[in-house]
Amino acid sequence: MRDFEFHRPRSVADAVALLRANDSAKLLAGGQSLLPVMKLGLAEPGDVVSLAAIAAVAGDGAPGSSALREIRAESAEPAGPAGDGGAERLVIGALVTHDEVSTSEVVRRLIPGLAALAAGIGDAQVRNRGTIGGSLAHADPAADYPAAVLALGATIETDRRRIPADDFFTGLFTTALAADEIITAVHFPVPERCAYAKFPHRASKYALVGVMVARPRGSGAVRVAVTGAGPRAFRLPALEAALAARFTPDAVGDAAPAGVATGDLRSDGEASAEYRAHLLTVMARRAIQACL
Ligand SMILES: Cc1cc2nc3c(=O)[nH]c(=O)nc-3n(C[C@H](O)[C@H](O)[C@H](O)COP(=O)(O)OP(=O)(O)OC[C@H]3O[C@@H](n4cnc5c(N)ncnc54)[C@H](O)[C@@H]3O)c2cc1C
Repeated sequence: MRDFEFHRPRSVADAVALLRANDSAKLLAGGQSLLPVMKLGLAEPGDVVSLAAIAAVAGDGAPGSSALREIRAESAEPAGPAGDGGAERLVIGALVTHDEVSTSEVVRRLIPGLAALAAGIGDAQVRNRGTIGGSLAHADPAADYPAAVLALGATIETDRRRIPADDFFTGLFTTALAADEIITAVHFPVPERCAYAKFPHRASKYALVGVMVARPRGSGAVRVAVTGAGPRAFRLPALEAALAARFTPDAVGDAAPAGVATGDLRSDGEASAEYRAHLLTVMARRAIQACL
């Protein structure tokens, strides 16, 4: 591993300044993706900017102001005696770990499918260190959270703007983030129901194929997102329309859903494109069934 300067800024603004001052600088959150790629020599940052010392200050609602380690429910109305049952939105800070998402009472109550997804990431060490912000910024094509943010219609908040999940993933390991931009939080609308089904890699638990299905509140619409199958996570508009008309696992059929060309799917030592197409139909049916 190449030598690097290590920085521990105390604020998001200071972290951004360090990124701007050093072209090859990289942010460090949980280190569960950055450190492996540095060890493999695939990334050689001259400066590593740790987010660990940034104070957990409460956000004030302005872009970039969400607290990095906070999980909170948001409602149009102030929470009444029934607690956060009427909450419309779940806001998860970028430094919240996968373990914290999976064990949070608020996440389990409002979006149990998201808590279950986080519980299935990697192993206990990965879940204790890895963060939601790091996972989204890394944009691994087999990661789990990309399917969640797309299916749930989440918004990724950064130090300077809010990016709809539909505009966030731009390709293999690439996102709409600028080189000096920091994810601060993720805003999830609370759905009526959602569920995630994945066929995990036997060792790492990354998704060979994972499918998240969500029914947003009150609209009759359905959102379906797939990870592990292509160069980046993607939605399935034809299946979404079919499910909006008739919400049943049979809507998936036996062949790959409309809009999915087997030739566009990943093929590697773990699974052929044809096998991934088959897994996609099975995982989609399981996720739909779990939403019923
Ligand atoms: C053995 C193993 C198994 C795994 N299995 C799975 C799995 O089953 N499913 C899954 O989804 N993932 C899996 N992962 C990946 C894991 O979820 C990582 O935690 C995650 O991908 C990266 O999060 P991190 O906090 O560790 O980020 P880091 O490794 O610290 O950073 C990753 C990248 O994101 C950037 N970054 C970090 N935070 C921010 C931010 N707030 N704003 C902007 N950029 C940022 C960094 O500069 C870096 O480029 C696995 C990892 C390992 C090592």
